[in-house]
Amino acid sequence: MTDAATFADQLAALREQYAQRMETVLDDLCLSVAGQSIDIAPVLLANAHANLHKLAGSGGTFGFPELSRRARVLEITAKAWLDAGEVSELPHWEAWLAEVSALRGTLAVAGLSGVLVADVDSALPPKQASRQEKRTRVVLVDDDAQIGEELCKGLGQFGYEVSYYRLFADAEAAISADPPDVLVVDVMLQGQVPADGTQAIAALFARLHYTLPTIFITSRTDFSVRLAAAKAGGDAFLTKPLDIPTLAAHIDMLHREQEIEPYRVLIVDDDEVLAEYYRLTLIAAGMSAEKVCRPQDALTAMQALHPDILLIDLYMPSCSGAQLARAIRYEDAWLGMPIIYLSAEDGLDEQIKALDNGGDDFLTKPISDARLVAAVRTRAARARKVDELMSKDSLTGLLKHSNIKERMVQEYDRAQRHGKAMAIAMVDMDHFKRVNDTWGHPMGDQVIKTLAHLLRQRLRRQDSIGRYGGEEFAVVLPECDAADALRLLDDVRCRFGEIRFIHQGESFTVTLSAGVADSSQCADVQTLLAASDAALYQAKNGGRNQVRRFVGG
Ligand code: GH3
Ligand code: MG
Ligand code: MG
Repeated sequence: MTDAATFADQLAALREQYAQRMETVLDDLCLSVAGQSIDIAPVLLANAHANLHKLAGSGGTFGFPELSRRARVLEITAKAWLDAGEVSELPHWEAWLAEVSALRGTLAVAGLSGVLVADVDSALPPKQASRQEKRTRVVLVDDDAQIGEELCKGLGQFGYEVSYYRLFADAEAAISADPPDVLVVDVMLQGQVPADGTQAIAALFARLHYTLPTIFITSRTDFSVRLAAAKAGGDAFLTKPLDIPTLAAHIDMLHREQEIEPYRVLIVDDDEVLAEYYRLTLIAAGMSAEKVCRPQDALTAMQALHPDILLIDLYMPSCSGAQLARAIRYEDAWLGMPIIYLSAEDGLDEQIKALDNGGDDFLTKPISDARLVAAVRTRAARARKVDELMSKDSLTGLLKHSNIKERMVQEYDRAQRHGKAMAIAMVDMDHFKRVNDTWGHPMGDQVIKTLAHLLRQRLRRQDSIGRYGGEEFAVVLPECDAADALRLLDDVRCRFGEIRFIHQGESFTVTLSAGVADSSQCADVQTLLAASDAALYQAKNGGRNQVRRFVGG
């Protein structure tokens, strides 16, 4: 990610460029109306209207809000005269002319640049900018050292990096210095001040001016504790004795909510400077944004970027935004794509017409950075949710069968293009029927979920995991050969075998077998899949609880 200083420079350069361009627009505007009588030719008035529209639309964005506001008033008046076919009255015309020539003054007193730069800085999420590593970091606070150590060990098996503190005050110092991904906090902290973990957390977040995902744990079951946890903003509430897989599942879920892949946004606007400004603003807010300035390039860009959301300018020279939206919707693949129009148009009729043509929403220029970011983020989040529901398995949150197969094909093709190996692993639990028969189907579900969490925790961000069948998983590992895949899966196998599941006071463990193969040995993706399947079969035949690598021949 580009750092904040570079963004500030780029934005300042854009603003400078904009100010210069607006001077030209203003010159044109003034020249076209200067000395004109009340009988001004409609074409001149229309030209003035278009220029005012431009100024009104982008002035605010670039730090000239006064220019934007005043141009908007003049634009509305010009539009009324154009519609009526004449300028209303001489005093109005003279006042309008005077106001047009006064617009120049607003360019000189821009003055907002400092604010805009500061906005961009604060929009950069502190963590996304700096942290790359994958392991989820957990801070655990419990006054009972024995429980603390047990939880530490149990969560460690899942691959979490856990720091344990008996004293909240010690944890507090560590949290402020380097915020973890998730907090797990005991409610009763005997002998500490405050003795209530919920109060300690509330006070800490107030001091930090931000919150962190928090799980409260307690042996108390009364409602008042729950309420205290809710008041302190706790995300989850678990009662002791704690079952480690359940705790891990909560940590995983909370962390995943934070760790979303950046939203992808495509901006279509013929105004290149403005499009670039939006692009930088969205990138500064942690999104991934691209722009195209010609509507005819939109579909190609969409295919390359697979955006979560489209921002389209409503007025472009070669076609309107609404027409572009309609053309995009002809493609089945883009039927569900959220489209937001960006326009200086605030006429309700025009907006309704545009929405009819397949857009979802409207943002009126000038739009503040914060509003733009918020509007894009909420809509992209909703689009992602819908997409998740359709492509992810509901029990495990992993990709469904058809989606993981699709991923195999994509990654295989990509590996061939780049001349690098990629690997596939097939993972299947051992004697899973017995788990169901002995401990019940719901407990079996719990075991399946646990393996899903463990896989997610141990694999890299670019890896994909799918639920291939009932208790069978497929893993796609880009830029990885069979030897590395073997090591990775064997580590997963060891950790999984150590997890103790507890059912009505009795505990048990489950093992798994896996087969791996990489693309260097296989002429196509079907062969690769068959090879990893064959390796899994060998692992099962070889006595289970092991990982085998496919050896060609
Ligand atoms: P092997 O070591 O040879 O793989 O033996 P296995 O018992 O694991 O293999 P098998 O394929 O015979 O049985 C898989 C079992 O997994 C059968 C099915 O009831 C169970 N299963 C499949 N999907 C689910 C699920 O979603 N939840 C639960 N609880 N069980 C499931
Ligand atoms: Mg099995
Ligand atoms: Mg099976």
